[in-house]
Formats: sequence, C-alpha cells, structure tokens
Amino acid sequence: MIGVIGGSGLYDLDLLDGVETVRVKTPYGPPSSDITLGTLHGRRVAFLARHGAGHRLTPTEVPSRANVYALRRLGVRHVLAVSAVGSLVDGYAPGRLVVPDQIVDRTKGVRPATFFGDGLVAHVSMAAPFCPRLRADLLAAAKSSGHDDAIDGATYCCIEGPQFSTRAESHLYRSWGLHIIGMTAVPEAALAREAQLCYAGLALVTDYDCWHESEEPVTADMVAQTMRSNVIAAREVLADVVTRIDDAADCGCRHAVDGAVLTATPEARRLLHERFGD
Ligand SMILES: [Zn+2]
Repeated sequence: MIGVIGGSGLYDLDLLDGVETVRVKTPYGPPSSDITLGTLHGRRVAFLARHGAGHRLTPTEVPSRANVYALRRLGVRHVLAVSAVGSLVDGYAPGRLVVPDQIVDRTKGVRPATFFGDGLVAHVSMAAPFCPRLRADLLAAAKSSGHDDAIDGATYCCIEGPQFSTRAESHLYRSWGLHIIGMTAVPEAALAREAQLCYAGLALVTDYDCWHESEEPVTADMVAQTMRSNVIAAREVLADVVTRIDDAADCGCRHAVDGAVLTATPEARRLLHERFGD
C-alpha cells in the first residue's frame, strides 16, 4: 500500500479506481480526515487530506501522529507527502516542483513530535530525513511526466505558521542557505521515520515568500491561483510514481528503529510491539 498525504489544494485523488472511504481510530485521536482507499495503475493507494476535508486544520492543528499511525495501520509502507511551499531562492519560481532532501525545524515545539516517551526511549537518525529511494522515484516520475525541471535536493524550512514569515525572517532563512519554506514537514517526516516508513516530499512552489523585491508580498489569493495549476502537476507525478515504487527493495527505512531503542527494561519489546504492532 502506498500512502499519499495531500497538502494545501490537494484534498482528494480523483485518479483512484474502486474507492472506499475508511475512518481509522488511533491512540492519538482521529486523523486529519477519513482515508480514501483505491487503486492506481494496479497499486493500492491510501489518500489522506492533511488539513482535513474542506481545509479545516491549521498546520499546528494537523494531528501528524494520528495520520502516520493510521496510514501504517492500513499497511502503508511508502508515504508521498505533497505540500505547498514558498521559495527562498531566485529561480525556484512559482510552479516549480521540488523534491527536498533536508529539513530545518523552525516550529515552536507545540506539536507532538514522537511516538516514543512514556517508558520507551529511542533516538532514530534524521541525518537524511527523506527516503533516498522514494526521492529518486519521485524525480524520475517528475521527469517522465513532463516536469523535467523538478529540483533535486533542497532544504525545507518548516515554520509554525499559520502566518507567513516577516521579511526579516525570510532574509534570515535565505542567509542560512535554506531553499523552500512550508509549515508541515515537521514533525511528519520524523514520525514517518519512527514508524519505519519510506517518506518523501513533493513540494510545489506557490510564491516567493516575501523576500523577493520585485514581487508583491505573498497573499493567500496569489498562493491559491498557483496552487490550482500545481495540483494538476502533482496528480501527474503521483500517477507516474506509483508504478515505480518497488516494495521489495530495502533502503533501510524499515529498520530505522533497530538499534535506536535505549530502554533496557524487559518491557521495551512489549511497548514497541504495542506502539507499532510489530
Ligand atoms: Zn526508504
């Protein structure tokens, strides 16, 4: 099963055949939305709208633990995370597709960001926060679906939102060498790693944030316009990428917790099983 988390603008996946909708209960409360199951080019796909049906959840309110847990419980092993982002680099113009390879966390620490705690401690590696194999699949899919200029590798700056950055912040992030800015990769990517899922992001540039002097400051309306065309591009890439994902290939993501658990009590194995079901 392949999971797709749709971001701003992508609230359903009308590419799916034989759809059914399921409501998954989790120990972390309900996911953002009911999950749509269906088939795309012979592959089983589970689609979840990150901000809920009708876009009701701010980035801070997105229940990422419930979302990742629910997908995993449905048998998902690969997660494609689609998101709208601002650009911090001249030339990464609105409409460009980006497959990021790094994240800098500028959220404010209010989002539950781990499945561990409560008697079970583990420190998974986030050195490479996105699955390299799934990233390669996304880039190949972008190329073959006519988006040859998709950008391979970028650092995603995740801010708390829901407000956009101040101009000073935007310049600061640029001075740090960050490339794109959004509000949702944290803690989603880390939770996917803890759940031992392959996770990669397809980021769709909607605007130049507010640093770009020749551009008007970003407004929600400008973002919405570009988002509509970006969503068409995202659907094209998703339709292609599902045919490329090789379930048998082992990239290490599914062993992310091996050797990461520090808890030395006999309870640890049972807690791990309880939390992740394997
Ligand atoms: Zn992987």
